[in-house]
Amino acid sequence: MGALLGPAEIRDLAAKLDVTPTKKLGQNFVHDANTVRRIVASGRVDADSRVLEIGPGLGSLTLGLTETGASVTAVEIDGRLAAQLPATVAAMQPEARLRVVHQDALTVAASDLPEAPTHVVANLPYNVSVPVLLHLLATFPSIERALVMVQAEVGYRLAADPGNKVYGAPSVKAAWYGSWSIAGQVSRQVFWPVPNVDSVLVGFDRGEQPGDEALRSRVFVLVDAAFQQRRKMLRQSLSGVLGGSARAAEVLTAAGIDPTARGEVIGVDDFVRLARTVLAAG
Ligand code: SAM
Repeated sequence: MGALLGPAEIRDLAAKLDVTPTKKLGQNFVHDANTVRRIVASGRVDADSRVLEIGPGLGSLTLGLTETGASVTAVEIDGRLAAQLPATVAAMQPEARLRVVHQDALTVAASDLPEAPTHVVANLPYNVSVPVLLHLLATFPSIERALVMVQAEVGYRLAADPGNKVYGAPSVKAAWYGSWSIAGQVSRQVFWPVPNVDSVLVGFDRGEQPGDEALRSRVFVLVDAAFQQRRKMLRQSLSGVLGGSARAAEVLTAAGIDPTARGEVIGVDDFVRLARTVLAAG
């Protein structure tokens, strides 16, 4: 096993680069080797994996990924961190297979990456974690497995089933791509600086996608409308996107969904059936 970064190395590197971690970019760096190895193991990363890491920062998790022999592409928005990372990793693991892309993960496209990723493994910037995940899953169908560290509330929401009190639009959209589960909690003490929120690890396995891009986009419009006013019955919350509440009730009934139900009890399969009914009706 290669070496990983500890607390002293993290602070030295930050000082050398004159980096003061910013909240805006969600810069809380992991300085605990056990946490890094736990993330890599839960991500099921091995030498055959092509890993996309978002926000490598000073390289804590990157080194854990490259020491498996995996090929790693790391996308980092902060130019100082992106510029330093190849040297940090090469000094500690000369054999590492790493490419660094200096870019915003929210806009990264297939043409920006040297290879199609099979895995996403990341300690995500917390303020953009859901949009980043949805963007990556839509943009890279080659991604089969993800293991991400996110703010606890976000993690529980991603993994929530219908009827759960934290179930919401992100839960349904995430479920379009596959299944999600909480892989464990993470102590605040493994970060520098210590964040003021709790974190969890969330695992993802891609499932069979319910349909094409036209269907996905229709499902997401229905989901947004259904959860914008989550306490309202579906025939009301969907009236704006389905041409009035009488028409909404008709379409919901045709799709086998109770028009008086609320969005919070409707699963992705129901939304898919509803979108198919809407598309078939023209
Ligand atoms: N992976 C490192 C670790 O575990 O120590 C750093 C994780 S830190 C929570 C989040 C990282 O994401 C920071 O390095 C930050 O600069 C980067 N970042 C923030 N927003 C980003 C974006 N939109 N695209 C790519 N990287 C981003």
